[in-house]
Amino acid sequence: MAIYAVVAGSWIILSDVLLAGVVRGLGTFVQVQILKGWFYVAATSVLLYALIRKDTAALRESEARHRASLESMADALILVDSHGRIVEANKAVLTLFGLEAPGMPAELRRFIELLDLRHPDGSPIAWDALPSQRALRGETVREQELLSRHSNGALLHISATASPVATEAGRAPELAVVVLRDLTGLKRLERMRDEFLSTAAHELRTPITTIKGYAQLLDRWTPGGHEPREGKAFRILNRQSDRLTQLVQELLEVSRLQLGRLALRRQRFELGELVADVLERMQGVSSRHRLVLHQEGHVFVDADRERIEQVLVNLFDNAIKYSPEGGDIEARVEVREGSGVVSIRDPGMGIPKERQGQLFERFYRAHAGLESDRGGMGIGLHLCEQIVQRHGGRIWFESEVGKGSIFSFSLALAQQVGQEHEARV
Ligand code: ADP
Repeated sequence: MAIYAVVAGSWIILSDVLLAGVVRGLGTFVQVQILKGWFYVAATSVLLYALIRKDTAALRESEARHRASLESMADALILVDSHGRIVEANKAVLTLFGLEAPGMPAELRRFIELLDLRHPDGSPIAWDALPSQRALRGETVREQELLSRHSNGALLHISATASPVATEAGRAPELAVVVLRDLTGLKRLERMRDEFLSTAAHELRTPITTIKGYAQLLDRWTPGGHEPREGKAFRILNRQSDRLTQLVQELLEVSRLQLGRLALRRQRFELGELVADVLERMQGVSSRHRLVLHQEGHVFVDADRERIEQVLVNLFDNAIKYSPEGGDIEARVEVREGSGVVSIRDPGMGIPKERQGQLFERFYRAHAGLESDRGGMGIGLHLCEQIVQRHGGRIWFESEVGKGSIFSFSLALAQQVGQEHEARV
């Protein structure tokens, strides 16, 4: 363009000087100037046309490249603007939901209705909770799980990842990029695994109970008592079958939970009494640890006593297991911010910061591969979380390597705590 400006400018000045010297008479000079003007306009138009054509071709080529990359993506990609319009959707979107291009709505609301988009528990999803809308508010959404329907009516499990796009830095996002991934196959496999675990655990229970029963019988039946060596063998047999029973029970519980077969039988009870019971029992597990209970006043809850007992056993068991040096394990039962809270503090090895994020995930073991690994299946804490959450409660922890951990959970208080309190005082 700069070259063009220099050439055109020089041409105008030089041609005028040249014409002034050559052409005689004003009329001829004006005519030649008009001709020169036409020629100039024509030459500029041709040049501009050539330039625009070149730019348009480059633009088309780059757009075609972008489109080809979008279309070749295995993941479904949708671009939504702040007015709720679908600006772009690649072919994988059509494939994922079994749609035809003409049937693809341009409005996000229509699209959501068509797909029957829901939360994983089947409840309808509010407009503001949609990954695209969250991204348009500036949030980056990672793998939000959703349920939807294929055009043939089949249920789809999908995960949505969404990010905001702002054309100018500092401005509100104008677009949201949403990437959808099909999790249906994965969920089916997970279900098969849980069904298998459930069946295997169920089948294992009978032989284990039989082994335990006979180990106890043999211990009692040996005429004239047994030799110390035999006694030790029977005790080990008993202890290990107890351990096996507990492992199988955990497997069974976790698979039941995943398959939605864990029902709660709520009843009203005093949390401190249950903690004291479990604490006394767990004291028998280790002589190197002193289990201590702190409680002020009664804390009545309306919960499944057996399940909460299971949570407590797991937490005490971990506190002992991950405090190999022994020491005091302190349990506290109190009312905090209107909820019943139990916390269990241990003086153990703690959990490395970078391994804390996934602690409640199924099969996750924070010390796997470390010298401090104590074995286990990584099921206990997941079970605890699921049980507490099903009660509408919360479970959390604080931990520092070398200093120990505090695991806490909260449960809603039972109604009329006052009356119960009065009755017992
Ligand atoms: P398991 O103990 O059978 O491996 P859990 O689900 O009970 O499974 O615990 C998951 C992981 O969390 C454990 O493997 C361990 O790394 C860590 N953990 C749990 N409780 C404690 C604790 N009190 N102190 C340190 N680490 C713990």
